[in-house]
Amino acid sequence: MTSTIQLVNPADEQPLQEVELTSAEGADAAIARASAAHAAWRAVAPADRARLLRRFAAAVDADVEHLASLEVRNSGHPIGAARWEAGHVRDVLQYYAAAPERLFGRQIPVAGGVDVTFQEPLGVVGVIAPWNFPMPISVWGFAPALAAGNCVLLKPAEATPLTALRLGELAVEAGLPEGAFTVLPGRGSVVGQRFVDHPAVRKVTFTGSTAVGKQVMAGCAAQVKRVTLELGGKSANIVFADADLEKAAATAPSGVFDNAGQDCCARSRILVQRSVFDRFLELMEPAVTGLRVGDPADPATEMGPLISAAHREKVASYVPDDARVAYRGSAPSGPGFWFPPTVLTPDPGDRVLREEVFGPVVAVVPFDDEDDAVRMANDSEYGLSGSIWTRDVGRAFRVSRGVEAGNLSVNSHSSVRYATPFGGFKQSGLGRELGPDALAAFTETKNVFLSTEES
Ligand code: NAP
Ligand code: MG
Repeated sequence: MTSTIQLVNPADEQPLQEVELTSAEGADAAIARASAAHAAWRAVAPADRARLLRRFAAAVDADVEHLASLEVRNSGHPIGAARWEAGHVRDVLQYYAAAPERLFGRQIPVAGGVDVTFQEPLGVVGVIAPWNFPMPISVWGFAPALAAGNCVLLKPAEATPLTALRLGELAVEAGLPEGAFTVLPGRGSVVGQRFVDHPAVRKVTFTGSTAVGKQVMAGCAAQVKRVTLELGGKSANIVFADADLEKAAATAPSGVFDNAGQDCCARSRILVQRSVFDRFLELMEPAVTGLRVGDPADPATEMGPLISAAHREKVASYVPDDARVAYRGSAPSGPGFWFPPTVLTPDPGDRVLREEVFGPVVAVVPFDDEDDAVRMANDSEYGLSGSIWTRDVGRAFRVSRGVEAGNLSVNSHSSVRYATPFGGFKQSGLGRELGPDALAAFTETKNVFLSTEES
């Protein structure tokens, strides 16, 4: 029996299209096909694998508008953001297209022979993607995995499979062999669970909630299966009194409200030095109230809706009637899962300072000095990203070294560049994606010693 999911446009709640969900048997059959395809895929010469990945990138480039429009309708991402995301898929493929010909091993000096290492592909890799950034997070898994010679199965989030399905078609158009890259829409508890349980899947990369990430890790432990986890965050944006306060205040909303706050890197705690606390709040207000929240298809839109009614309910629970709201932006009324950007000034113990909201809600709190700022930033079970605003270069580096997080930016809010490593400290994750070393996460190091002794 096949089951389907009815997708809904989060901006107007209109039905979009039905998508067939892969069953456990369907997932097993796809895993078997990927396993069978692996010997041929790993044998493709490095330059040819590189060429195929460049063709895949070119196919994505030619389809950017189409991919972006799918994401606008399926996920409610503003069109400008969706175009960037589709372009990012192309760029990540292009970046890792250079990898097959540069997957170097080492030659290590030893007595009596020659010692070399090889980076061998793992076999079949399962990528489990979330709904918040369907395109970028998928490509962070599949591009380096394919480049390293693995066959990849991609399970998009149940609610947001459309761009992943299209990427699967583009891979075939580009000439990737059957079984090298397969997209399996379906439930996490069915398809995702088969990736964890099936012994032929040698590695799982998972992005999503910390709770499910822990289950995935525990499940993988049974087979000592390789796992990369990219989980939640409660990142701090630390603003010192000596910063360019105007710029810090004008950009702080984008650091947390991008993608309607549905971003694991969202700087959802703004820590402001006490002497400039009131001034900062004042300066930030027009950037929040002026945020253009509305129709994702309109190029002027800066923030779209949340992904679902259930998610909006969760987000709203962080803004109870008695919450200390400093000010809020606007949001359309009527259909759609809208939530206005909201700025809170909570008490120190408030759960909004500890838990990931994953919506457009930010908490602003004061700190006294540098030590205080670092202590507060680290007072979290998470450690994914963060920002530091100061004109003092020494302080910028001291605080960067002090904050327990994988991706920090000074006087900016950027954290994702495909050429640099991305991942979390503490419960924000395990392992790193992107950057020059990502292939290490999709290969095993093999050491070979060859004797040069005369026989
Ligand atoms: P989630 O359940 O962890 O979903 C992430 C992915 O894991 C989806 O593809 C999901 O499939 C799959 N999955 C679910 N159960 C699984 C299982 N037992 N085995 C293998 N895969 C499984 O996340 P969510 O429920 O959509 O979101 C909940 C919260 O997680 C959010 O509010 C946010 O706080 C956090 N989150 C963080 C990120 C991030 O980027 N770090 C991304 C998304 C969510 P289904 O779609 O079928 O459930
Ligand atoms: Mg879930």
